[in-house]
Amino acid sequence: MPIPAKDIQDHWIFGEYGGVNPSITDSSTYTFLNPETMKALFEQEMEGCFLYSRHSSPSGTALADSLARLEQTEAAMVTGSGMAAISTTLLQLCSQGDEIVSSRTIYGGTYALMKHVLPRFGIRTKFVDTMDLKKVEAAITPRTKVIYCEAISNPLLELTDLPTLSDLAHAHGLPLVVDNTFSPLLITPAVHGADIIIHSLTKYINGASDGVGGAVCASREFIARMLDVNSGTSMLFGPVLDSWRAASIRKNLHTLHVRMQQHSRNALFIAEQLDMLGLKVHYPGLRWHPQHELMNALMNPEFGYGGVLVLDAGDEMTANDLMVRMQAAKVGYLAVSLGFYKTLFSCPGNSTSSEIPEEEQTRMGLSKGMVRISIGLDDDIEDTFSRIRRCLEAVGLILADLAV
Ligand code: PLP
Repeated sequence: MPIPAKDIQDHWIFGEYGGVNPSITDSSTYTFLNPETMKALFEQEMEGCFLYSRHSSPSGTALADSLARLEQTEAAMVTGSGMAAISTTLLQLCSQGDEIVSSRTIYGGTYALMKHVLPRFGIRTKFVDTMDLKKVEAAITPRTKVIYCEAISNPLLELTDLPTLSDLAHAHGLPLVVDNTFSPLLITPAVHGADIIIHSLTKYINGASDGVGGAVCASREFIARMLDVNSGTSMLFGPVLDSWRAASIRKNLHTLHVRMQQHSRNALFIAEQLDMLGLKVHYPGLRWHPQHELMNALMNPEFGYGGVLVLDAGDEMTANDLMVRMQAAKVGYLAVSLGFYKTLFSCPGNSTSSEIPEEEQTRMGLSKGMVRISIGLDDDIEDTFSRIRRCLEAVGLILADLAV
């Protein structure tokens, strides 16, 4: 299998005057020497020809082509946010009366889209445990058009057995759509049978917490459908990623392999230390994690187990106290999102998963005391851990270590 990081590295696009970065296109529209070419472009894509930047732009296409290499798909397109990528993909695949079978442990925004917005268009979602293939199969009906999951779920870090789920989807003639936001480079869902891979570029791929973006990586045929001038949801809803932001994200994509390795190294260290203190930690790199073996089977090992872990502080008050102290100790920021070079933490039950009703959160195993921590690129992770340890002592989660 080709190594995706190397594929991205070898994707050279020169700028004007031999620039080492592609030039940023500062145009919403493009001239033609011949009206016949313009007419032909409305009917069908032509490589190297651009029409109007809501459809595509050279800067957006440069990023999209690199992302297709990342995900080992034929093609890709970029959008103004991860939610734009998810909503336009689902609306491209589903019409009134259709159904989606989705994992129940997904990002709160995606859950809210499926639960509250798509039903207004006559599209219903059945939420199931996608690790239980019998439940997935039982949920499929002749109206089902999509199977949807996250490769590593937000926030519980549950994995999906992508090869078996994709086999099941394909046996029913359905596409498997996988959100790979938590695990770029770590997992390559297309290699395990996924048909459409979605990213929030806002997270690891950009890695700087300075912009919002999304991507859809899929077959050439599906991307062309999304961009079709008459029926493409991306073309017609128009959630464009600006050229300047696309160029900036593409530059950051070229350091993703180094960043993922350091995020994973740091997160594994912190998870192991917290585990040794007897605390309840969720991290797929821990040997006892229920899906550790599955993670080993799915992952590209050189990139580690990922940068996010979840610490169960027991209750909301202790979790809040801990987060305030960790921010004061400069462990990182009390903020939503992930994949930043600094550590970010928040309680998903009250923030990024608050769209999911409390009874459903309890059924999923999500409690109010859980703190999701996206570990940064800290150089001295042992020092970071000592700071975390002092905060844990201060909130009473561990006893003070008098030897330290
Ligand atoms: N998918 C996952 C797994 C996420 O965590 C998020 C945001 O947190 C999104 C999609 C939505 O991405 P965006 O905020 O870029 O719209």
